[in-house]
Amino acid sequence: MMKIGSHISSAKGYEAMGKQALKLGASTFAFFTRNPRGGSAKAIDQTDVQKFLDLWKEKGYGKIVAHAPYTLNPCSDKPEVRRFAKEAFSEDLERMEHTPGNYYNFHPGSHVGQGAEAGIRMIAELLNECLYEDMTTTVLLETMAGKGSEIGRNFEELRAILDQVSLSDKMGVCLDTCHVWDGGYDIVTDLDGVLEEFDRIVGLERLKAVHINDSMNGLGSHKDRHARIGEGHIGWEAFVRIINHPALRELPFILETPNDDPGWTREIAMLREAYREEL
Ligand code: FE
Ligand code: FE
Ligand code: ZN
Repeated sequence: MMKIGSHISSAKGYEAMGKQALKLGASTFAFFTRNPRGGSAKAIDQTDVQKFLDLWKEKGYGKIVAHAPYTLNPCSDKPEVRRFAKEAFSEDLERMEHTPGNYYNFHPGSHVGQGAEAGIRMIAELLNECLYEDMTTTVLLETMAGKGSEIGRNFEELRAILDQVSLSDKMGVCLDTCHVWDGGYDIVTDLDGVLEEFDRIVGLERLKAVHINDSMNGLGSHKDRHARIGEGHIGWEAFVRIINHPALRELPFILETPNDDPGWTREIAMLREAYREEL
């Protein structure tokens, strides 16, 4: 069964997210643990969470992919921003345990001129402070487009973070197709080569989820402007190869395309149609 879905608003709680996912034809989804621009999170209503867990179990659906706020930057040069990052991250991990065994994805951070090495050290420091032995969540580093001073612009930077994290068995990677394309990885003409490189540097066993987005810009543009599937520089044929690739096809695919509900419903249906149930 293909695991596919889009981002869904978390404003109305967990059961509402589950129902909205079903409405879109999704079998997984992503959601912001709090306002994507930051701020505090709503208290968790255990009854609401349980209704979602029951619904998900009844459907036989698997993991969901939470997303940390964009403002979370562990390697800011401002102490108060780094403090917010740790507080929000810790609190989010605690909240994630209400829905055990899922994914929590985050943008590693922007070093804002302090250098990649310093940035990587601060990101690992946050992870070493916030990860704990008994947690059931897997934390995912997202591959980034390399706009501005973003860390995670190449596989080596993700490897460097993982190397500095003690509880690295709690860590995985989320591959964003728009970001790696913008970062210079040619997933259109050399998907196999890119995945081999990922395997060599990070390890394919670390790859846990895919953000499936087309790109408004060319290979290596470092821009990070998402396009609808088939309407950007990556193109429909490449996505058919991506969703059916043996190294990717079992992973949850999350759409972060500029769309409304009918648009996501259409994209989900289109991609399901192109997914081969048997290879
Ligand atoms: Fe993201
Ligand atoms: Fe993404
Ligand atoms: Zn993006």
